[in-house]
Amino acid sequence: MAEAELEVRALTARYGAVTALDTVSLRARPGEITAVLGANGAGKTTLLRAVSGLVRGSDGSVLLGGRELAGAPAERIARAGVAHVPEGRGVITELTVEENLRLGELLGTTRRKRRRVHRLDGVYEMFPALGQRRRREANSLSGGERQMLVIGRALLSEPEVLLLDEPSLGLAPRVVAQIFTLIRELVDREGLTVLLVEQNARSALSIADTGFVLNLGRVVANDSAAALAADAELRHSYLGF
Ligand code: ATP
Repeated sequence: MAEAELEVRALTARYGAVTALDTVSLRARPGEITAVLGANGAGKTTLLRAVSGLVRGSDGSVLLGGRELAGAPAERIARAGVAHVPEGRGVITELTVEENLRLGELLGTTRRKRRRVHRLDGVYEMFPALGQRRRREANSLSGGERQMLVIGRALLSEPEVLLLDEPSLGLAPRVVAQIFTLIRELVDREGLTVLLVEQNARSALSIADTGFVLNLGRVVANDSAAALAADAELRHSYLGF
């Protein structure tokens, strides 16, 4: 198993009587974008939260490079190299762009020489709009810039695995295309492992390598992104395009 391969085995998560994830198994490889698709309530967000240790009382296995992370505290999972970018962005609006980014660095383990993309200047290179606004309050950023900021902040924590929850939410199609292109370039260049949760299945499949479709907490399909996008029945039943 490659160092940064993420493997989830029979992951089950409940909120009281609701089983939000039911024995979900999947694999995400380094240098690939793995899309997790499905309608509202399918369990996508819960999957990311369970991987990053934010859902209590889940069962099953979460392996990073063969190392078991399930049951570990969220902070240890983050330090092991899993960065979670939650839905709804989470920038700290009273801080400047650069102060927000520095928060990401605090989590970095400095376990080795930082890759360029994991340094502040690397993030500004990738997202020039952030460099131009580095001294401004995050409050003043557009939705797309905020999304860039939280991705940049996650990169500064030196992750092996990036968990992205609905990065397209609330953004104009042109901005979604721009952010997805940047994510694709990042993965190709840095060999990160990306798990991309999206309701915007068409856009997600256009940049993903493989995908998993969830319905009511279960995996109902798993194939290459191209094969999923070409499956008319699947698109109609679960992907909404
Ligand atoms: P969305 O795209 O709407 O966020 P999702 O695919 O991410 O959907 P989840 O948010 O993971 O789905 O929700 C899966 C199921 O778990 C749903 O039935 C939801 O109502 C339920 N659920 C999620 N969070 C909680 C919670 N904190 N307490 C109780 N039930 C929850």
